[in-house]
Amino acid sequence: MDPNAADLLLTGGRVHTVSGGEAESVAVRGGRIVAVGSSAELAGLAASRVLELEGRTVLPGFQDAHLHPTSGGLLAIVCNLHETSSAEECLAEIKRYAAENPEREWISGDGWSMDFFPGGNPDRERLDAVVPGRPVYLENRDGHTAWVNSRALELAGISRDTADPADGRIERAPDGEPSGALHEGAMDLVGALVPPPTPAELEQALLNAQAELHALGITAWQDAVVEADTLAAYRAVAERGQLTMRAEGNLLWNRSRGEEQVDDLLAMRERGSLGRLRIRGVKIFQDGVLENFTGALLEPYEGTDNRGLGMHEPEELNRMLTLLDGHGFQVHLHTIGDRAVREALDAIEAAQRANGKRRDARHHLAHIQLVHPDDQPRFAELGVVANAQPYWAAHSRYVDELTLPFIGEERARYHYPFASLVRAGAPLAFGSDWTVSTADPLAQIEVAVTRVQHP
Ligand SMILES: [Zn+2]
Repeated sequence: MDPNAADLLLTGGRVHTVSGGEAESVAVRGGRIVAVGSSAELAGLAASRVLELEGRTVLPGFQDAHLHPTSGGLLAIVCNLHETSSAEECLAEIKRYAAENPEREWISGDGWSMDFFPGGNPDRERLDAVVPGRPVYLENRDGHTAWVNSRALELAGISRDTADPADGRIERAPDGEPSGALHEGAMDLVGALVPPPTPAELEQALLNAQAELHALGITAWQDAVVEADTLAAYRAVAERGQLTMRAEGNLLWNRSRGEEQVDDLLAMRERGSLGRLRIRGVKIFQDGVLENFTGALLEPYEGTDNRGLGMHEPEELNRMLTLLDGHGFQVHLHTIGDRAVREALDAIEAAQRANGKRRDARHHLAHIQLVHPDDQPRFAELGVVANAQPYWAAHSRYVDELTLPFIGEERARYHYPFASLVRAGAPLAFGSDWTVSTADPLAQIEVAVTRVQHP
């Protein structure tokens, strides 16, 4: 056989190349593209397999702009509730997992959904009934609320006398007793006691995630949160030559520490370039989520005087952005509510005023669920990327029961305003936020276009 023959010839399609051009045919040999051109140009090429595309589209590979690969890859090890669709199914799965893992001191995992419970809040009593002796800590699908049992609350010393932390809320029964749901910063009160995954488990988790996402056509990802243990796992996998995903990562800004942590962030960035790995970003949470009223709003939630939770005071955020931008970091801000979005844009503007707009910094605002019309043109003006999760922009129970009634009609008009942002010149990037929702890019693009989810 001709040693120069391609293994695979894709022909007669619409091929979008990386450089933005269009072609009709692609030839692949040994896992690499060896020729791209019109069908006529490649017609003479010998190939062991020919695929007639009949006008179908070929893309170079998807890039997921915001996701959590290690959480995804760890689902094979922890108590995985992502496939459940009710509180009863969750409880059955928790009971089964606890019985099958008698050696685990803690039952931990994630994937329950707020719409399984009245008001979005699960209770500790039903968890006590299925796992009475061991502590249980389970995060919900978006990672902003944890469901814990009585044993876990007891070990963490949380009682009716425990005050809410500044950056979170302990859900309570009418008598003031913790009811089993911990929001945002309050999650750490128990979460800090859960034994972390071992280095070997984290490395396996990355490989699991990589295999699963490659199968969906994803060739590059932006890890939303990288910490010291995940960085070590990335490095180990990259050193063995097993990192086949092009991986960008954001180091987590630790809210319990101050600006002195920049030295540690710089040291981690220093170790963050290896093979296909690039660690150049810093992740800052500026608010929570709307479903538990921690998303930061310009005007209060309907029928309340609560404007949500701004994690950093505006002056503090301005200083942080100026510092990180000055060190050449790309800052990735979690911003759900219209107040968080505005405060983040203000902070980026402050950083540009202080540092000059000398470089193409491309800071990201992730999630952008509510963007006030006045702020929509500012993405283009400041060169900020609107990092959206299109799969969420549909009439799911999350949106219809836990969000829209509390933001009202006026704000509903700028809920997930992707097209408005694009019309205002914003660079728009899509990410799945997997494991919050599906990593399948085609399912996400479908919702971006139709605003209907097909589960
Ligand atoms: Zn995320």
